[in-house]
Amino acid sequence: MQKRELVFSGVAASPGISIGSCFVFEEPSWHPEPRTISARKVDAEKKRFRTAVAAVRKDISRSHQTTFSQFGSDLAEVLEMQLAILDDQVFLEEIEAFIEKEHYDAAYAAYTVFSQKKDFFMGMSNAYFRERAFDIQHLKELLVKSMLGERFSGKIALKKPAIVIAHNLSPNDTIQLHLQKVLGFVTTMGGKTSHTAIVARALGVPAVVGVPRFSDQVKSGDQIILDGNHGEVILHPEPETIADYKKRQEKQRAAKARLLKESSLETRTQDGHKIAVRSNIEFENELPQLLKVSADGIGLFRTEGLFLNRSDLPSEEEQTEVYRRIAEAVYPNKLVLRTLDIGGDKILPQLAGEPEENPFLGWRAIRFWLDHREGFQSQLKAALRANTRGNIQILLPMVSGLSELRQAREVLDSARETLRKEGKPFVGEVDLGIMIEIPSAVILADQFAREADFFSIGTNDLVQYTLAVDRGNERVANLYSHFHPAVLRMIKMTLDAGRAAGIPVGMCGEMAGDPLAIPLLLGMGFQELSLSHSLIPEIKKIVRDLALDECQELYGDVFGENSTQRVVDILTAFFRHRFPEIEVEP
Ligand code: PEP
Ligand code: MG
Repeated sequence: MQKRELVFSGVAASPGISIGSCFVFEEPSWHPEPRTISARKVDAEKKRFRTAVAAVRKDISRSHQTTFSQFGSDLAEVLEMQLAILDDQVFLEEIEAFIEKEHYDAAYAAYTVFSQKKDFFMGMSNAYFRERAFDIQHLKELLVKSMLGERFSGKIALKKPAIVIAHNLSPNDTIQLHLQKVLGFVTTMGGKTSHTAIVARALGVPAVVGVPRFSDQVKSGDQIILDGNHGEVILHPEPETIADYKKRQEKQRAAKARLLKESSLETRTQDGHKIAVRSNIEFENELPQLLKVSADGIGLFRTEGLFLNRSDLPSEEEQTEVYRRIAEAVYPNKLVLRTLDIGGDKILPQLAGEPEENPFLGWRAIRFWLDHREGFQSQLKAALRANTRGNIQILLPMVSGLSELRQAREVLDSARETLRKEGKPFVGEVDLGIMIEIPSAVILADQFAREADFFSIGTNDLVQYTLAVDRGNERVANLYSHFHPAVLRMIKMTLDAGRAAGIPVGMCGEMAGDPLAIPLLLGMGFQELSLSHSLIPEIKKIVRDLALDECQELYGDVFGENSTQRVVDILTAFFRHRFPEIEVEP
């Protein structure tokens, strides 16, 4: 007898529709015996614990390398967070202190302290910290198993492609499952920033997370439909529902393929204005994707990727090779190479100083590099040497005053001078631009425009510094918006100052990849946008369907508004009218 169809709602974590039978992934529940030890054994147990940490660290590092080369930075970052926990000496010492004080063996001590830490993070209101609880849980299992003589288990084996249902999945489990052609993920835990969500998006697998009690209602082999666009899961679907979703699935596949095919067309508005749609990248291994979507070059290369997760600094030679390969790959288009933007939430252990109270207002980006001139100069030398085709431009992050731009120019001059002395060939001429992401740079934009060769607006930081809203704090996330009227004025002021001085002004913050923002940005006068490669086909299509005069009119309607909500309402109404087939979340 056909079971009754049941619909469950959760968070739409990764888009796409999957239809198939499910595989319920059950985590083994276990805990080590509380084994006491004599005082004589304390040191030996501490050593056993450290050996286990080293073994697990090694396993995760190895997995990190393959993950990075196969799946890219998003997935690798998840494992980096786990490595950071294993490198936290203060935390590791807590476990040693537990062994010493309570006289329990290493496995039970690690189990207990990790469990306490996990519960602590689980109780926090910030989703980011709650996610760390899962890292801790996962590490606890690996460590205890290692101490009890078991290493990474290859425990999950799908007999055939299936939709995986779990309470929560560790990144390793998710990757292992992906390698077995999983059709989708449903988890009872998690939100948009949960590991399963990040990993599923990076892999392009549909997912719905945060579906309470779902795993209690379903067993392996049950038929389900997973709708990653709307965050719905349908258990025991009726034949008509399956037929309906098959149609939708086909439509989406065709639309995606069409967008990708059209992505190679030149991006001109209906009335013939050429708009450069470039890609933001962090790693060299993103090149194939950006070539696939026919990006008009690279509008922002975040070079931090080359400096993070290693114990040394990349040499001038190594940087030259990487920059040259990337510049070659996108030629004749441009490669806008941003100098190191470290600090804030990206810490460089090789050169780290004391932890800062307010890292986003601290020793970040250009400030940091000007204090490490040798490293700064070495990066600039590499950029000059790599510029054999003349398509590299250099971009300075977090510039707040003219003296920083002037000092950076001096370092660039001395980089040229040193290269001359060393007899290394290079192209002397290179454009030097600045990120506009601090309000002081907007206010002085006319002065900057006389000395910088171009501007690139970084809305991610500009929003946080203009509105005093931490870009990573979900408690104030409702206040963070690039549609705030003050932010829109900042953007327009920058554009006007650049235009008056005759220098190009582009945008590389997330706003440039927000479909809702595109008509407004074109109306303001942007001709250069840079965004994540996964968004390029859709954004190009939107640009191609718009005419400049309708965008200018829209900008006129929005500009006088004094509330974010009004701006969003006007933009949403326009978008829904012009692009009814594209779903936007205001
Ligand atoms: C920005 O701030 O908008 C930007 C593009 O830089 P990042 O996100 O790397 O700070
Ligand atoms: Mg920034």
